Amino acid sequence: MKKILFILAIVTTAYGQSYYSDTSSVEDKRQYTFVKLDYFGLNDEYETPYFVFKGKKPGPVMILDGGIHGDEIASYMACDSIVKYLNLYSGTLIVIPKTNIKACNINERQVNLDFNHAFPGDLQSDTYEYRLAYEFMWLVDSVKPDLIINLHEARTKWNPKALSDPEKAYGQIVISCVQPFEDLLIRAVDNMNKNIPEGDFRYHTHYYSYREYSSLDNFVSKFNIKSYTVESYRGFAIEDRVKLQLIAALQFMKEIGLDHYYPEVNWK
Ligand SMILES: [Zn+2]
Repeated sequence: MKKILFILAIVTTAYGQSYYSDTSSVEDKRQYTFVKLDYFGLNDEYETPYFVFKGKKPGPVMILDGGIHGDEIASYMACDSIVKYLNLYSGTLIVIPKTNIKACNINERQVNLDFNHAFPGDLQSDTYEYRLAYEFMWLVDSVKPDLIINLHEARTKWNPKALSDPEKAYGQIVISCVQPFEDLLIRAVDNMNKNIPEGDFRYHTHYYSYREYSSLDNFVSKFNIKSYTVESYRGFAIEDRVKLQLIAALQFMKEIGLDHYYPEVNWK
């Protein structure tokens, strides 16, 4: 118990800004969540903290990752806020805010190579991105989640012509490498858009063809696990980008039945 309280103290003091109007009851409700701090690459150059939330009731398992690209800052700011304020009542949520921590710490997309092109990884490689990718795959294989959501950001705003150049990243889109789109994806995007005003801020479903080197495609093809990539547009204000990432991540939690409390994300 002491250990859990200690970790909670670290989490609540070390993390993020507030994006909500009402956080008064968070501390009380937090007692319903167990949180464990763990690491990728302990004692390696990329030692990476991640958080395992467990509700008191059984339920589905989801992995939420940010910071695969180190300059997509809204992704790990959203993860940090979830780590700080989430109360999970059922199931398991694993949050990895800065998956490529070395790139995040220098606010660059990558260090040696694009980490998202290093999958399924190689534990013997001299290049840390391959070792990290291997460890990420190992974590996925060992917890066998029902869903993996990857948070990213894009430099190009979505427009109807995006369909003619589909292999590019746009904001706002949620990417799948499976067609036809799964019901879960369609439902989640419809419901997240109910919390977002009409226009450029709304999400679109988007298809990427299979890429053997990417994280998403490896999760889907090697483990048969549903996985989607959320892209917010980097041209928006940072508060909006973080809110958009939060809305997407929390909606996926709702859709798969991860019962939780999180302070309402107010759009404006
Ligand atoms: Zn990215």
